[in-house]
Formats: sequence, structure tokens, C-alpha cells
Amino acid sequence: MRLGFNTAFEQLYSRDGLVALDQAFVTELATRDVALHNRFVAARSRPATLPEKEHAQLIIDLGAHLEDFIAELFNIRVEVTALKERHSTLSPLYSCKRLFVQRKAAKSLNAEQTAGLDGNALEAKLKSCFVGNDSFELAFARSVIHWLDAPETNAEILQIATEYAAWAVHTKEGQARHAKGILFKIPRKLDPQHLVAVETELRDGVTVLKIPHSHRRTRVGFGLTDDGGTLTKTLDEANYCIWCHNQEKDSCAKGLKEKDGSFRKSSLGTTLAGCPLEERISEMNFLKSEGIPIGALAAVVIDNPMCAGTGHRICNDCMKSCIYQKQEPVNIPQAETRTLRDVLELPYGFEIYSLLTRWNPLNLHRPLPKAETGSRVLIAGLGPAGYTLAHHLLNDGHIVVGVDGLKIEPLPQELSGVTALGEPVPFKPIRDCGTLLEHLDERVLAGFGGVAEYGITVRWDKNFLKIIRLLIERRCNFTMIGGVRMGGTITIESAWKMGFDHIALCMGAGAPTIITMENGFARGVRAASDFLMALQLTGAAKTDSIANLQLRLPIVVIGGGLTAIDTATEALAYYPVQVEKFLARYEVLCSLSSESAVRAGWSEEEQEIAEEFLSHAKAIREEREKSTPDVGRLLDSWGGVKMVYRKRLIDAPSYRLNHEEVEKALEEGIFIAEMLEPVRVEVDRWGHAKTIHLKNPQGKITTLAARGILIAAGTNPNTVLAREDPTHVTLHGKYFQAMNEAGTFVTPESSAKPKVPHVLMSFEPDGRAISFFGDLHPSFAGNVVKAMGSA
Ligand code: SF4
Repeated sequence: MRLGFNTAFEQLYSRDGLVALDQAFVTELATRDVALHNRFVAARSRPATLPEKEHAQLIIDLGAHLEDFIAELFNIRVEVTALKERHSTLSPLYSCKRLFVQRKAAKSLNAEQTAGLDGNALEAKLKSCFVGNDSFELAFARSVIHWLDAPETNAEILQIATEYAAWAVHTKEGQARHAKGILFKIPRKLDPQHLVAVETELRDGVTVLKIPHSHRRTRVGFGLTDDGGTLTKTLDEANYCIWCHNQEKDSCAKGLKEKDGSFRKSSLGTTLAGCPLEERISEMNFLKSEGIPIGALAAVVIDNPMCAGTGHRICNDCMKSCIYQKQEPVNIPQAETRTLRDVLELPYGFEIYSLLTRWNPLNLHRPLPKAETGSRVLIAGLGPAGYTLAHHLLNDGHIVVGVDGLKIEPLPQELSGVTALGEPVPFKPIRDCGTLLEHLDERVLAGFGGVAEYGITVRWDKNFLKIIRLLIERRCNFTMIGGVRMGGTITIESAWKMGFDHIALCMGAGAPTIITMENGFARGVRAASDFLMALQLTGAAKTDSIANLQLRLPIVVIGGGLTAIDTATEALAYYPVQVEKFLARYEVLCSLSSESAVRAGWSEEEQEIAEEFLSHAKAIREEREKSTPDVGRLLDSWGGVKMVYRKRLIDAPSYRLNHEEVEKALEEGIFIAEMLEPVRVEVDRWGHAKTIHLKNPQGKITTLAARGILIAAGTNPNTVLAREDPTHVTLHGKYFQAMNEAGTFVTPESSAKPKVPHVLMSFEPDGRAISFFGDLHPSFAGNVVKAMGSA
């Protein structure tokens, strides 16, 4: 395929081709804007000494030029212009919101004064004055901006608009009418103790926290539960941002600091260190708000090239450190993910994103992959730390082999550029990224991505994993092999013998923490991570899978972290899928023989469980046939899913780190019981969990019915290699022992942004070394984006 600037598609994947492309960009820039070209060339020659403000401004100034260059390169000027126009069409919404709704209308009438207003009558009057076919909010915004040009002439209609806006902002009816819009939504003040609106209820003998039933969301199965927000919403966030890079106060990226330079803590005790990758968030928001979508993505990719693996419903360290500490922060992850999607949805969107990960002139430090070094690195583990590390090592000019314990399914070779046997073959440009996408509830697990594949729920679009995989799998110096366990299939010694110069361990989390309680290993009791992995890896959640993952209601999930939250939602979503599958198959079998023949082999216990499943499935089927089915109420009546935590919800890590996830889980219908600790599991006559005894701080015991008990008490780093190879590997507590470059043991700082990162852990006499990343490392353990930051 021939591209613009006399470039062949294949050149985009070779260093020489990228060098030529870079030169074309520099030449083009010189013809369009000499002053900017000169600033750019000068900055490139001294990126480390460039003052931060100048650096940020240069990125912004270059963004639009890069966008034009890419549009021409891929011959998609029409489509890029259309995308830009979609941004500018929406822009009246944000100026009207800021200048009229927030500054004037919402302040001119308070909640009491708006209570008596007739929203319908005001709306009718306004509509009679609108022109065009825009949605109500856009028509309102355009009209108000127009009327404000002549405020005296339009005084009467502006008064009506003021009253309507105040009514929409302050009254419940107005808020409900505009629940899906953005124009009349004013950022809420934050009360750290009440970040989630819950109500209490006495349920099965315990007081539980829950969300009002009217706020519940019906979830059916395992399709994507959250599409990540529209362009309208994203631009609302980008315009809400005050672009703090202008004051060098972009705490979302750099963290909020105390006077002594240490990171501040929130009132809930969370360290406000900002984005672990120090992504250029402020610059992204500015470029996006200006309608420069490719430029905005290029700003993200500078520090977060694997941004398909971050963003919406994955990370929120940035939001916690946003300059807005007393009111709702900017929803940065949503803005980031929409920014990526907008580009991916362009023709050749994947190729544009992919190109930016290899060549990005906004990245002054490493705009191009470095020349080949000949060094060979083995990466063990292809989760977020491993794939991000692979990317950076490839761009640093090294040869990388990535192995993972999971079997990795091959992709079509015209996509990946490798055969099933790992032989390189030519690949085709991807014109329509949509062809890569699969429905999550039908998607076959591909084995790439570690915890992002088997641990993260369908709140996140796992199609992003295929995109990340293609970013690195197409690189000629990268080889990926699945089904290889470090310490088993391959050892450190054998890796050295194969000729590797460095080994990087990215093996993530390992064994779950066990809670000691009587009957803690009874049937029905399971580690949460084991349940989540079984659900994802076996495909049990899919309608056509015969994988056996038995789960009975009521379910109690022990723990207060984000894994407990995920476990609770997935268990609740899985139960109907499981029993409906059971009923469907039972009916097929019965139609092929007879009910008694089908039941002939069942034990007494199996009969009991089968009756339970069949009756529940029939009730669900009946419910689904109603005009307004409410399967949630049925699940509640069978005991539902209760998350039980030993402290208050506001002390729970899930609440402190990401209360949005708690809120979303409550919306799905889980209940939360506070201040209870598990003591003992009571079993039935077949040894299966029946009830769980829980103790409150005063020692009072409460008994809850629990047929499924899922323990989410944390996991430990996967350091089994220390037992298998004590010669090369030493432990320090539950992590690997770090070393400095002189080979002396050191204790890494417990911060995702350590002053000196220590990732080395072992040296060979000839200087070859082993390093460790992600959840294996005390500085970077905890979440996906910290793991990526370690790389
Ligand atoms: S996201 Fe928040 S901290 Fe970051 S630039 Fe915008 S307003 Fe400032």
C-alpha cells in the first residue's frame, strides 16, 4: 500500500522507514511554520533541559501539525475533518455551560426559588424559539449564545432560558430529565465520607448497604457493561479541566505535593501521587477540547504508549490527584479512552495509533526507535508490566522474547505478521479497526495480557488486548511464546545458555491469602481470584461452554478490596447464566431420552442442587417473558450476593482507591455488610458450605446463609521462582530482594514514583542481570497502571 509523502506501508514498521518519515515531517513543518520548526529542532537537541512550560506548549503547538501530517499520510483528510467537525459542532454546549448555566443561571435562582417553576411550560416556550433540528441541549446552547449577542433585545427569552436552566440544575425533575445530558450537570461537592449514596436495610438478619432499587442496572450475562462514554461527555470533561500545565500544576500527572516535596495524602489516607506514568493529561484535554483528536492521542502516547490498557474503568490514580479536591474531579480515564477510540474509529485508526507508538514527534526524548543494540532480553510474563516493558525495550533497540505460562492463541497471520509457528510473514494494513472487535460474551480467551485477560471483568473492553498485542507482535525484533513457565519450562540457567543478555520477570500476583476459619476449605468456599480465573479461563460464562463452575446462592464474598467488588458482581452475573444453561441442557437431554433416565445417575445431593437450579432457571425464564422483567429481585429473594468486610465501607481499599467501582457494583445489585469478620463455615450433611458465622467487633456472632463463599483477602506476589532457584533469586519479605547496580541489596521505596527505582535483583559474574516489575515489586505492586509504570 502506498501512503502519502512517498511512503510505503512497510516503511512504517522499519526503523529506516520511520527515520525517513520523521524527516518528511520536519521538512513539512518547515514549509508550514518556520518559527515552530526552529523551536522544535532546538528542543529536540536539548529535551532534558527544556523548561517544562515550554515543553508542554511545544507539544500543543505541534499537535495540530502532526494531525494534518497523519491525515495526509493515510489519505484520510475528509474523515479527519469530519471528526474535527463533530468536536466543533458540540463546542457551544461547553461555552454555554460555563458562561451561562454555571456562572449565571444556577446562581441567579436557588433550589427553593426553582421549586415552583413549571419546567414543561418553560421548555415549550424555548423550543418555539429554537431553530434547526439539534438535540434540546445543543439547541439550547446555540440559541443562548446567539441571544447573548444582543442581551437587551433578547431579555425576555434569556430570562426564560435562565429559569429553565436553574430548574434543570436544581430540581429533581429537571435533573432526571437531563440525566443523560451534560449541559445542566454541575460538578457535585465531594464529601469523602459519603462518596457513594447508599441506604441501609435489614436483610437476612444483618444490616446491609445497598443502592436504591430505582438506581439498579440490569446486567445480562457477560457483554461489555460500560461503553466508555460518548464524545459529548468526553468533551465535557476536557472543557471542565482547567489545563493546569499552564501553571505547572497538573497534579493529575505529577501528584499533589506537600511543602517538603512528599506526596500529599487524601483525607481517606490515599497517597496522591498522580498518574504513575505521568501521562500528559492536561495537554491531552486541551488538544481534545480544541478539536485536535489525533494530536490529543499523540500527547497521551508520549508517556503512555500502551494506553489501550489504561483509562476508563481501569485506573483512577490521576483523578484522585486532580486539582479539584473539593468537588468532582475531571473524569480523565474516560477522556483518555474516548480519545483513543475516536482515532481507532478513523480509517486506518489502528495503524495511526500503532505508528504513534513507534514514531511520535511529540516525544522529544525518543521520537523514533533507537538503532539495534543486538542485546537479547527475555521477558517472563506478558501482563501489563510485561507487554509495556516489551514495547519500551523494542523502542530502545533490543531484541525481545516474551513468554507466558498461559497458552497464547495465534491471530490470523495477515494481522499479526507471524505464522502459528512464529515465522515472520508480511501483514496487511488494518483499515477498519472494527473488524478486530468481538462481543465479549463470545470472545475466545486469547491468553495474552496476564491479569488484564483473566482478572479484569467485562467492565473493560478486552478487545483492547488484541490491539496491544498487535502493537508488539508485529515488531520484527519481538517473539512471543505461550505455555512457557519461568522456573519450569525454562529456567534462569537455561535462559542464560540460550544466549539472553537480560531476564525481566513480570509474573504478577500469585497465591491468594488464606483466611483461617473453621471449614475454610469446605466445598462451596473458594478463593476469589480462583473463581475469577476459572470464570474467564474456562469460558464458563459463555452460553455454549460446557465448563463446570458450580456456584450456589446465597453468596458471601469476604473482603473489601477491588477484587472483592469484582468477585461480587461477576458471581451475581454468573448465577443466572449458569442455571439457565443447566435448564436448557436438561431439557435437551430429557427430550432425547426421559427425565428419569437423565436423573438416574444423580446422587441425592446432586438431585437437591439440580432442583434448586431448575426451579431458579424456570423462575428467571418466566420473569424474562414479562414486559418489564426484574431478574434482580429474584436473585435478591434467593439471597443474592453480599460482600462482607471487617471494617466500615469507608475504610475499605475499594472505597478509598476507587469508590466509583463500589458504586457501579452496588448498581448491579450487590449488598455490603460492614464490621463483620468470618469465624466459621457450617456445612450440610454432604460437607458443602451452608452458613457462615460472622463476628462483629463486640464479639457478637451473626449467621448468614451462604452456599457460595468467595474469599478476596488479597494475593501475594508470584515468587515461587525463589523456591525453585535459590541460587539466582533471593526474597525480601514477600517480594524479591532488590539490588542496586553495584550489586548491593537495597530496599525499594514504597511508592510508584520512587526517587531511584530499583528493579535489579541478581547479577551473573559476567554482568548479565535479572530485573523484576509490576506486582512482583514492592514499589509498583497494586494495580495495572503502576505495573505499566514500572516498565
Ligand atoms: S485533570 Fe485536573 S489536575 Fe489535571 S489538568 Fe485538568 S484540572 Fe488540572
